[in-house]
Amino acid sequence: MNRNVLGLAVVVVALAAGAAKPPSDAVVLFDGTQKSFDANWTDMKGRKAKWKLVDGTIEATRSAGDIRTRREFGDVQLHVEWQVPANLPPYDMNSGNSGVFMMGLYEVQIFESHETDPADMKHPFYADGQAASIYGQNPPLVNPTRRRGEWQTYDIVFYRPVFDGAKCVRPGSVTVFLNGVLVQDGWPLEGPTGHIRRTRQTKPPSDKGPVKLQQHLCPVRFRNVWIRELPEARRRTR
Ligand code: MG
Repeated sequence: MNRNVLGLAVVVVALAAGAAKPPSDAVVLFDGTQKSFDANWTDMKGRKAKWKLVDGTIEATRSAGDIRTRREFGDVQLHVEWQVPANLPPYDMNSGNSGVFMMGLYEVQIFESHETDPADMKHPFYADGQAASIYGQNPPLVNPTRRRGEWQTYDIVFYRPVFDGAKCVRPGSVTVFLNGVLVQDGWPLEGPTGHIRRTRQTKPPSDKGPVKLQQHLCPVRFRNVWIRELPEARRRTR
């Protein structure tokens, strides 16, 4: 079974089963409690993460910086639910601004993209900065983003890049479902994501890295975060 078929099968099964409940083999990274937050997340220096717990969600607290998982992961399926505050002005550069970083390096962007749609010529916004873009590399195939204040769901299948020495022999790839809709179909990563610059394949410090959630000047909230490690033996062969 190739990588895309495997990724799709995993996610479709999860979606059909009702993704609210993590699968039995998932590592639950946030279940709505302070205990699970403290057990699984730190700030970027490994200290206690200071994002606020609000009504069973964690909020990207402006003064508290990005957060990362204590554990590190390689190939994974990741489920994350996120919400842009309902009361923010639309068409603002930081409206809903956040992101999910795989291995701490590869960003699936979070943004308010229901009203701020790059296809809306009255309020243009750069396409590879909208929700579900691979930031700075590839816009989503379609834009199924819900309104501000509503919960959005990411189901991400990530395969790490493979290196032989310093040479990348297989780029990493990202498949993303946003609210159950396929929006990134095994996008081959050009390298770590960056702002308004092309990147190149750069060998990460190890084969695993943390999941990072970004604090980017907007109190985006998260809930129901879980991850499944994908076995090395199931790696794609093509
Ligand atoms: Mg971002």
